[in-house]
Amino acid sequence: MSTPIPNFIADAWQASAATEVLEVTDPAKAETIARVPLSSAAEVDLAVQAAAEAFPEWRRTPVTDRVQFLLKLKHEMESHFEELARSITIECGKTLAESRGEMRRAIENVETAAGAPALLQGQFSEDIASGIDELMIRQPLGVCACICPFNFPGMIPFWFMPYALACGNTYVVKPSERTPLTMQLIAGLIARTGLPKGVFNLVNGGREAVDALLDHPLVKAVSFVGSTPVAKHVYARAAANGKRAQCQGGAKNPLLVLPDADPESTTRIVADSGFGCAGQRCLAGSLVVTVGKARSWFTESIREAAASRVVGNGLDEQVQMGPVITSQSKARIEGLIGQAVNEGAKPLVDGRDPKIAGYERGYFVRPTILDEMNPNGDVVRTEIFGPVLGLIHVNTVDDAIAFVNRGAYGNMACIFTTSGASARKFRYEAEVGNVGVNIGVAAPMAFFPFSGARESFFGDLHGQGRHAIEFFTQTKVVIERWPKEWSRRF
Ligand code: NAD
Repeated sequence: MSTPIPNFIADAWQASAATEVLEVTDPAKAETIARVPLSSAAEVDLAVQAAAEAFPEWRRTPVTDRVQFLLKLKHEMESHFEELARSITIECGKTLAESRGEMRRAIENVETAAGAPALLQGQFSEDIASGIDELMIRQPLGVCACICPFNFPGMIPFWFMPYALACGNTYVVKPSERTPLTMQLIAGLIARTGLPKGVFNLVNGGREAVDALLDHPLVKAVSFVGSTPVAKHVYARAAANGKRAQCQGGAKNPLLVLPDADPESTTRIVADSGFGCAGQRCLAGSLVVTVGKARSWFTESIREAAASRVVGNGLDEQVQMGPVITSQSKARIEGLIGQAVNEGAKPLVDGRDPKIAGYERGYFVRPTILDEMNPNGDVVRTEIFGPVLGLIHVNTVDDAIAFVNRGAYGNMACIFTTSGASARKFRYEAEVGNVGVNIGVAAPMAFFPFSGARESFFGDLHGQGRHAIEFFTQTKVVIERWPKEWSRRF
């Protein structure tokens, strides 16, 4: 049995003393590729203490010097780009093209955070009263941490960590215990930048490590991305302990197809949204709401797109869709397909239990289309997190928007139309954080906040861009009076 992967604490790789160790599997082959320790609260404490010790010196380091480490990290990530992309595909299952896209967005966040000298600038007002000036400065918080999901192991830490460091905070990352390997590589790259000891730390673990971060008095802010029940737990516990928190949760993203939409591009984009990353994206399309006459052409064209998608090992460049993450996920997804059918849906394309040549043991579910989803059933409200598109048919755009706003989640909604007026109405009325207009995965660029609303987000400031700069800084307002009479004393 292989040695469990280490933690990275105070600029050193440290073997965990954890008694509980999980296997990390390559989901395409169902083979163990590593073992991950579930670190204890004491090990989390070591990482937090290392970060706390590094903080005073790091916050005093000029921001122009701090961002030099980010620029070196960008260079390291570019130089190891293919290795990082392969690592994501092997531990997570997505295709190499998808993994490359993921790493590109991670690097874009490093680039955006490297603009911190300008982003961190404060404000100054002269003579707010006679002879009195007022200024606002941004200062770092201290030790900050992020808790990550399995589905973007190389990108999601970068929604937060580069900004936190650029702002002068020190950091602890807790990767998903299902996909911890890409962050091992990245920690190695960070070590090569010469970042001072303790500024960045990585602790592997699960629930105990998360709760230890949430309870640790030296941790000032927590960023979480994962399922909604855990997001709520993290948000509540962090708040109860007086910490800042930003918690991104699950999703059930509706895509509206209007009768005037362009059939070819709409079908292609919707299929990529629903089946890309095997549906394991928080911005994956999950329900397609066709309006009026869109029903007939769209139902036929999406059936063909689902049936013809090439499924296999993501390392094969020809493959368009890889496996789901674990055998439990596969069983859960297939169970939900069955439940939807029991609730009245018609399986136009049924991807359950496929045979993928050469990968018979892998955790594959083929693209699935469930027509006529029961709008009053449970599955229509449940995040499936697999390659399953449910179809719902309504008569008007108003009905479709009302459907979007009845859903509990608010991560993303998209509209496909050639009508500017319909698109504008949708943009105005849809109660979601990320909106796509003829776009199937409305993933904000690094310089925009990765938004989300209702059951998909708990907090106010999001990851990425200016929101991250605000989240990772404490504003301080100074009001100054310097009467000129005093200068006569010298
Ligand atoms: P998850 O909630 O199971 O796990 C996320 C993290 O929480 C992991 O690090 C895990 O160790 C920890 N965790 C799990 N259970 C816990 C508990 N009871 N107490 C404390 N910590 C716990 O999520 P996942 O399955 O890894 O990721 C998939 C989910 O993430 C989906 O719901 C998806 O929609 C969501 N997601 C959301 C976004 C977004 O931006 N809104 C982005 C990516 C993924």
